[in-house]
Amino acid sequence: MKLELIKGDITKIKADAIVNAANSSLLGGGGVDGAIHRAGGKQILEECKEIRNRQGKCKTGEAVVTSGGNLPSKYVIHTVGPIWNDNEEKSSKLLANCYLNSLKLAESLDVKTIAFPNISTGVYRFPKELAGKIAVETIKNFQSEMIEKIIFVCFDDENEEIYKKLLEE
Ligand code: ADP
Repeated sequence: MKLELIKGDITKIKADAIVNAANSSLLGGGGVDGAIHRAGGKQILEECKEIRNRQGKCKTGEAVVTSGGNLPSKYVIHTVGPIWNDNEEKSSKLLANCYLNSLKLAESLDVKTIAFPNISTGVYRFPKELAGKIAVETIKNFQSEMIEKIIFVCFDDENEEIYKKLLEE
């Protein structure tokens, strides 16, 4: 499994799947969620609504999939990151679950390349350094026959620096 770092906008990435840092409503929001729905068009929201009607809200740490709509990627995997609340152990476990459940879902869809944003490090205020460590560790520990490449898409300079260091190690 190859790990790659790209600085920029995840909606521009051509991969089999990109991951969205959604909220539990699955009905869109700000940040990367807003960008994905804007660029992907209304098809994605329609599919999110169908999922909601079927199974209700998406729990923190879990993941669901829609098509990529107008995006260059085939699928969008929507996962709900934890809101940072000082319970480091609980928040860390939930964030690791986001990466893990997204990867498991990706594997079930025959995904070979997948791009992740820095889940929970925006409005959900998860400390960036810790979030980066959890992301890289969880992905490195995931054994996959299917997935060939994982792209970490960093939007801000701070995350870019953090991931550069983590991936050099
Ligand atoms: P959360 O609610 O999980 O914190 P946010 O969308 O607020 O979600 O932020 C998660 C991360 O996504 C942040 O690091 C933010 O800088 C980044 N981000 C925002 N827009 C984009 C985008 N278009 N592409 C990739 N990452 C983005």
